[in-house]
Amino acid sequence: MINLVLFGPPGAGKGTQSEFIIRDYRLIHLSTGNILRAEVEAGTELGKYAKQIMDEGKLVPDEVVIKMISNKIDATPEAQGFIFDGFPRTIPQAEALDTLLLNKGTAIACMISLNVPEDELVSRVVKRGEVSNRPDDNAETVRKRLEEYQQRTLPVASFYQSQEKLFEIDGVGSLEDIYGRITAILNHYI
Ligand code: AMP
Repeated sequence: MINLVLFGPPGAGKGTQSEFIIRDYRLIHLSTGNILRAEVEAGTELGKYAKQIMDEGKLVPDEVVIKMISNKIDATPEAQGFIFDGFPRTIPQAEALDTLLLNKGTAIACMISLNVPEDELVSRVVKRGEVSNRPDDNAETVRKRLEEYQQRTLPVASFYQSQEKLFEIDGVGSLEDIYGRITAILNHYI
């Protein structure tokens, strides 16, 4: 089993690169953002609760997303491994994920962090907003999301660095070039 965290700020390309990874490797893609948007779309209690927090660019409480991820991991006992995308986003989430995986006799193999300059992130997200219909893909909300990233999410990279699992790559360039940087790392594990 290989479990991977794809890490980076909003607009770094985590979702796009995840699609390439699941095309080529037998991994299950778990994106907390996608799961939450599906809950909003379905009008569930969780979706109703999370929508306002998401629209403001803030983070949904740890216990909510940890429970979501725990349920998804339990729902796919046959998985060969997982790509975690947009999770963990805080230190308590990272600690909880370690425990969840340890209980399954496995662990995170590596975290791949996509580095992209802030101006580029903002322009990518605003451009994505023109087609995504996501209420949080606009210049104002992305600033808030980047602030949350700096304050609460960035420490998660140090958490994995202290376990010697962090790989930082340049997230600028053609999609193929960026994916090549990712596979160069993944192929050490698979
Ligand atoms: P994303 O699609 O990953 O950019 O996530 C969109 C929004 O969903 C975020 O701005 C948060 O409001 C919420 N969200 C997604 N993943 C998490 C997480 N791991 N912890 C807290 N909130 C999250």
